[in-house]
Amino acid sequence: MRKVGIIGLGLIGGSLALELGEQGWQVLGVSRQAKTCQIALEKGIVHQSSTNLSLLQTAEIIFICTPLAAIIPTLEDLIPYLNNPQTIITDVGSVKAPIVNQCSQLWHYFVGGHPMAGTAEQGIEAAQKNLFVGTSYVITPTEKTPLEAVEKLAKIALSLGSNVHYCTPEIHDRAVAWISHLPVFISAGLIDACLGEKDPQVITLAKKLASSGFRDTSRVGGGNPELGVMMAKYNRESLLRSLYDYRQHLDYFIELIESQQWESLDKKLQQMQQERPTFLG
Ligand code: NAP
Repeated sequence: MRKVGIIGLGLIGGSLALELGEQGWQVLGVSRQAKTCQIALEKGIVHQSSTNLSLLQTAEIIFICTPLAAIIPTLEDLIPYLNNPQTIITDVGSVKAPIVNQCSQLWHYFVGGHPMAGTAEQGIEAAQKNLFVGTSYVITPTEKTPLEAVEKLAKIALSLGSNVHYCTPEIHDRAVAWISHLPVFISAGLIDACLGEKDPQVITLAKKLASSGFRDTSRVGGGNPELGVMMAKYNRESLLRSLYDYRQHLDYFIELIESQQWESLDKKLQQMQQERPTFLG
């Protein structure tokens, strides 16, 4: 039986374990807390579990599904247990360049990946089937990544029902800065700006009237603060590049409205209406 290792039995790791187990892989799960390992075993999410990385010695491919900060230290701790230098190791972190640059130096058969799936929940209890169906799975090889590692990961990603995309870690980070990380800070800025309203009557009424428009635009800014800090910390350069650019675009709208250029404003908004589907299909 082919063996797959999963480190970090949370939303992504647990969901991956469920899918691969169903496909016939023997799933070896390692997590930080013994309680999590126990739950994963009881729920049939993994076949074997441990808090000790030595469990993964015979795995053919290992997915590191810990929070971003733990990915590199986890790989460093894992390496001494591996006998086969061709064991494929991948991660699922939502930022790629800082992780891939370091991990591929530590392990030749390392290939970065980012399954762009998720829910607002976290931890082993949030693990679910079909999480990856119809979502994007980005694979970020470097020039030196063995083709065999890329192909094997792609095959697994396709088997999850994901659409596979390939790019460099740097291009990945710049692209997700635009569509995932920048929106968090625009949205957080919106909530913060509203809270800055000085007139108590206005803010009280605004809170009562807030409905679908505010719900859509404030959702990602009012989410898990830990994730927002991680994005900013690990994708700092690309996020700042997008934020500075965004500030200019906001200034442009201010300019159009201040100078009452209604025709230009209308033209711009029409262009945005046409372009939005090019992002969302
Ligand atoms: P999560 O639900 O919190 O799961 C992470 C799990 O890792 C935790 O449940 C924890 O399990 C375990 N863990 C923490 N530190 C560990 C360590 N040092 N060694 C072993 N296990 C450790 O988080 P997640 O949402 O699955 O995110 C995991 C990774 O997926 C992150 O790198 C994130 O960037 C990436 N990602 C997330 C999403 C998303 O939407 N959530 C989407 C794509 C990619 P214990 O219970 O044992 O402490």
